[in-house]
Amino acid sequence: MLSVIRKNVRLAPYTTLRIGGIARYFADIDREDQLCEALNFAKENDLPVFVLGSGSNVLFADSGFPGVILHPVNKGITFQNPKYGEVLVTAAAGEDWDQFVAQCVARDLAGLECLSGIPGLVGATPIQNVGAYGQEVSETIVSVCVFDRKLEQVIEMTNADCRFGYRTSIFNTTERDRYFVLAVTYRLKHHGAPTIRYADLQKHFADHAAPPTLQDVREAVLKIRKSKGMVIILSDPDCQSAGSFFKNPIVSAEKFAQIEAATVEAVPHFPAANAQVKIPAAWLIEQAGFHKGYTSGRVGISSKHTLAIINRSNATASELVAFVKQIQQQVQERFGIALEPEPVWVGLENQPVVALPPVLPKPEVRLQKIEEKVEATVSLPLPLKPSRRTRKPEHNPLKIERKKWFE
Ligand SMILES: Cc1cc2nc3c(=O)[nH]c(=O)nc-3n(C[C@H](O)[C@H](O)[C@H](O)COP(=O)(O)OP(=O)(O)OC[C@H]3O[C@@H](n4cnc5c(N)ncnc54)[C@H](O)[C@@H]3O)c2cc1C
Repeated sequence: MLSVIRKNVRLAPYTTLRIGGIARYFADIDREDQLCEALNFAKENDLPVFVLGSGSNVLFADSGFPGVILHPVNKGITFQNPKYGEVLVTAAAGEDWDQFVAQCVARDLAGLECLSGIPGLVGATPIQNVGAYGQEVSETIVSVCVFDRKLEQVIEMTNADCRFGYRTSIFNTTERDRYFVLAVTYRLKHHGAPTIRYADLQKHFADHAAPPTLQDVREAVLKIRKSKGMVIILSDPDCQSAGSFFKNPIVSAEKFAQIEAATVEAVPHFPAANAQVKIPAAWLIEQAGFHKGYTSGRVGISSKHTLAIINRSNATASELVAFVKQIQQQVQERFGIALEPEPVWVGLENQPVVALPPVLPKPEVRLQKIEEKVEATVSLPLPLKPSRRTRKPEHNPLKIERKKWFE
């Protein structure tokens, strides 16, 4: 067996829910040769493979994982300065996301400030198009460097290749499990204005005399997230979660009209793509009878956030799944809406794979040539091949203003 591979590793400590049995094999991946060796080992022994970041968006079965867990630990961040104050920042998959955001904000680079405090590693951000407080990574991702398990080579995927949508990309839909993300490149704006679209942020800065800086916005986001248990604080039981457990459902205008007609109070909603309507999952859950602080044995709902399902104390995956199904069933019965879990279920009866929204044809725009390399803090340990195709990041049609219910 390879030196990078450990046997019989408990998965619970590698997840924020603190749930999950034993992984048969577990490999920390720092370099491409280690990745290839671990993948070959899995192939030769006919074992399944799962890529695990920092486990903030996964739910492992109590039976664990019968194959090889690949855990990226590669580090490195480079800053490159093309024209017009834009900076291309490439971070290795194993970098801690929030520390990376902190570095960008400290360098006065705009584009990620609202994504402060999200747990996880850089490599996981394109998977579900991480988003919060008015920003999504799809707005700044230029390219994603991946190891393609099908082609067995490293390739650079453009933003358009990733087909980002609300909490989706090809990585968690049509091409699930095909790619191992090695590094991600974001296009940030030096001295750019912070994004203040989200209602809570607007309220926070309403009586500020001077325009808020990126650092002000980062601090405000961290403060708001903390008040909702949406940052990881080990001593806080409300934080033993996978963040928001359900996606906000998107329904047709007809379906929304039916719900409105059958409900006494106004239904909070926001416009979504293709004339559809997005309804806050938190509102649906509360209407179905589950409130903040609701408990069901060793699991429950966070006392700070209706969407966060928590492991109150040594809960099992089966207990948590039973509670999730109870919520789904009540919402289904009351509104006829199937709530879709956001975390990835491994070894459990899985949530259905969601289809991607249709891609609208867009004119190809060539990426600006990188003219000047300003600085390289650390070089990436993994070799990056040049881009096959490069396109300007797509405008995200699903970008909406998130208000109170979209927390
Ligand atoms: C308290 C809390 C708050 C949260 N708030 C938000 C939020 O505001 N917005 C939001 O979008 N999410 C949020 N999340 C969810 C989660 O933090 C993000 O989805 C995060 O990007 C997951 O990162 P991770 O490294 O923990 O990935 P993991 O949970 O380990 O993995 C998630 C998925 O990504 C895949 N993956 C991970 N790394 C790689 C890689 N290198 N290559 C290929 N696949 C990979 C895994 O296979 C899995 O399918 C929150 C979670 C918690 C616990």
